[in-house]
Amino acid sequence: LSVPDHPIIPFIEGDGIGADVTPAMRRVVDAAVKKAWGGKRQIAWMEVYAGEKATRVYGDDVWLPDETLAAVRDHVVSIKGPLTTPVGGGMRSLNVALRQTLDLYVCERPVRWFNGVPSPVRHPEHVDMVIFRENAEDIYAGIEWQAGSADADRLIRYLREEMGVGNIRFPEQCGIGIKPVSEAGSKRLVRKAIRYALDHNRRSVTLVHKGNIMKFTEGAFKQWGYEVAREEFGAEPLDGGPWLSLAHPDGGEPIVIKDMIADAMMQEALLHPRDFDVVATLNLNGDYLSDALAAQVGGIGIAPGANRGDSIAMFEATHGTAPKIAGTNSANPGSLILSATMMLEYMGWGEAATLLTDAMEATIAGGEVTGDFHQVMDNATLLGTTEFAEAVVRRLE
Ligand code: NAD
Repeated sequence: LSVPDHPIIPFIEGDGIGADVTPAMRRVVDAAVKKAWGGKRQIAWMEVYAGEKATRVYGDDVWLPDETLAAVRDHVVSIKGPLTTPVGGGMRSLNVALRQTLDLYVCERPVRWFNGVPSPVRHPEHVDMVIFRENAEDIYAGIEWQAGSADADRLIRYLREEMGVGNIRFPEQCGIGIKPVSEAGSKRLVRKAIRYALDHNRRSVTLVHKGNIMKFTEGAFKQWGYEVAREEFGAEPLDGGPWLSLAHPDGGEPIVIKDMIADAMMQEALLHPRDFDVVATLNLNGDYLSDALAAQVGGIGIAPGANRGDSIAMFEATHGTAPKIAGTNSANPGSLILSATMMLEYMGWGEAATLLTDAMEATIAGGEVTGDFHQVMDNATLLGTTEFAEAVVRRLE
């Protein structure tokens, strides 16, 4: 990615605590960039609108203006706070709409522990995984019909009469959801995960699925994943298979390509986190797994994420709008700040990313934290969102 010294970065402030955490994120990112390069490099932030704030600026029904989509597309790199999804109306979720419209098919969620962060597990330092969650397909495609609706009844009739699906499996009055999983969609996701493992010297890629139950969707995902590893990357069977071994071009340890059933993964990732590194999985599994693993390393208040396509990347807080604490200057800006460090890495501005990560880690390790951490820590100092950002800036300076 070729990035000028003064790039325009569109940002969506976000609803609810978005108005608390986004200014805090911008403040610390600007300070880190300044620390790394003086005035030579500087981000020109450009506010674009989505969610409730868009309806205030553009009018009642405009939740996702075309200008926002165009800016995110044109500037390639952007960052967003959480969005409220409109209740009623035609839109299922603004986030899903954004991901689908821009074809941001990978949700990348690093799960790593930072020194000082409170954790419910004894060895959070053993947790270091990156989840690649498919972002565009699966039941999130939003193809579903309400129980008792004319369309659901018509579909049930068709499946019974034309496709031979019996009454036991299709009771009257059931809601129906469709789970599309394509070969192309699965392969491009796994390709990104393996590429990442190679580029970042990772030890393994685990394909997580429920193929034992859903053979032609989840099971197919596993098969297609192994196919990509074998056919496109030249992975070889390990001890007779089905696991594969992928030689590292730099001669380092080979990468193991393996698979695990999703329910077992929920347990194993907690009990034996060191056995897992890069994880590639479908949309719903990835949604559950990302938050469950994030809980081990401080929770969604500090878990970063990115939605990526082939070139466009949108970095985002992984939590929602937290309406109960919105506007109270008490939210943890950590999730959005660490998402910004992923953005800086993606831009090739790794020095600023490292400075910012280190300053934030030192702030938390020094016991200066927001309310979510303060509740579960002894001898910590409670800071508001803005004060936390200022504490990070002080460490940067
Ligand atoms: P939430 O993430 O907003 O809140 C869950 C819990 O975590 C709450 O107790 C909240 O106070 C707490 N929390 C979340 N972020 C925090 C932070 N940074 N610091 C401290 N505490 C934090 O999830 P929810 O309540 O299920 O959803 C609320 C709204 O957010 C809904 O409208 C939902 O659609 C939306 N949402 C948006 C996104 C997104 O934009 N990516 C993601 C999830 C939910």
